Amino acid sequence: MLKSTIYGTVTRFDLARTLGGRGRYWTTAYLLDGLLIDSGCAHTARELSDALRAAPLTRLVNTHTHEDHIGANGLLQRQRAGLEIHAHPLALRVLADPRRQQPLHPYRRMFWGWPEPSLASPLSDEAWIETEDFRFQALYTPGHSPDHLCLYAPEQGWLFTGDLFVGGWDRAVREGYEIWQIIASLKRVAALPAAVMFPGSARIRENPKAELESKIAYLEEFGNKVLALHNKGWDVNAIVRALCGKPMFIELVTLGNFARRHLVLSYLGEYGNEA
Ligand SMILES: [Zn+2]
Repeated sequence: MLKSTIYGTVTRFDLARTLGGRGRYWTTAYLLDGLLIDSGCAHTARELSDALRAAPLTRLVNTHTHEDHIGANGLLQRQRAGLEIHAHPLALRVLADPRRQQPLHPYRRMFWGWPEPSLASPLSDEAWIETEDFRFQALYTPGHSPDHLCLYAPEQGWLFTGDLFVGGWDRAVREGYEIWQIIASLKRVAALPAAVMFPGSARIRENPKAELESKIAYLEEFGNKVLALHNKGWDVNAIVRALCGKPMFIELVTLGNFARRHLVLSYLGEYGNEA
């Protein structure tokens, strides 16, 4: 399922696999001035390429390599000779061989699918991407994934944040997220004089600074509570029960891969030695 909306000179594509007549677990790509930012999931690759048929597409930047942001890379690159793809240096080997480099849990295969391989060139931190009318700076913002970056257009104040910023108040994360890195990355972009924020799945925000700052404050406060209980000797399950609210449907769907306990573990930095 694909929905496209126009925001000034930016076209927004919301993409999701259709299951039971509904789109499930939406992801967003943006097109402006021949530049595509992210490419949705494999299940919607054909729909996106059809929607882009008349578009003068010359460049694609991936904010990170999660499969719901790179799914049409391979198809678009096969269709368009000369399409340049840019990404974080750590992203390149995942893009070149997604099946081997990024094994997917069953729920990820169901909702987003296996991306086709694609070839990209590396973007340095603070490197510029220029289109005919705009220029964007790549800003490394790890935490959601090690290869995450944001794109910032200083003249317009546009900030494309991929999955760094997700709306709402998190009480669960996927295994492997680095929450303290996410907070540091949010601080990096909150310091910019951005006028509009274009997230990788949530709604577009005008004057994003206040929202970024309240998100940072929430995550830090949550982390301080986790650490305080941990220092009192509470175990992870007790902290989850005290701070993370009721069990969540997504924990069932993902067989515990996206879960409250992973948020607590991430604050405690205990990945790799979980009991
Ligand atoms: Zn992601």
